[in-house]
Amino acid sequence: MVYMRILTLLTAFFISACSTFVGPGYRGTSHNIGTTKPIVINRSDYKPLPSDSLLLAWPVGQVSITSKFRTRKRPNHKGLDLDGEMNDPLYAAESGTVIFSGWQRGFGRVVKIKHRQTQAITLYAHMNKILVKKGQQVKKRQKIGKMGRTGRATGTHLHFEVIHDGNHINPEFYLPLQ
Ligand SMILES: [Zn+2]
Repeated sequence: MVYMRILTLLTAFFISACSTFVGPGYRGTSHNIGTTKPIVINRSDYKPLPSDSLLLAWPVGQVSITSKFRTRKRPNHKGLDLDGEMNDPLYAAESGTVIFSGWQRGFGRVVKIKHRQTQAITLYAHMNKILVKKGQQVKKRQKIGKMGRTGRATGTHLHFEVIHDGNHINPEFYLPLQ
């Protein structure tokens, strides 16, 4: 009987300990229902490009990667940072149409090029000088601007992004190995 009583007490303690442990998280979850919109990341409808459908050229002359795509330290880093000197030439990674050329908050002087075959967009940020205009057709490896540190940049570099179907994708998948 004593054993049974100890067992009952232990069970009761265990249950209360568990519910204390589970409690805050559960309340947190239920609190969100109806009050804030849950964040749903649904990528089931997104088909990434096959890596051989978009063959990009490096947008810089000499490749030195200082920050990769979505690192553990910078999960929101949606591009590749390429190091260089002020006014180093920047090149179109693929032929296409310039869809944006100008200043954008954070990016500073930025160029966006849309590529016809894949409908992918490449983005070049923090430029010191832009050499192309919106609507202009550019060829692969054509000089489009000069490297800088405009916008939110800690130093001179190119922030390079690849966007497809509204999703940022890792540029390294589409660039030749160094
Ligand atoms: Zn960057």
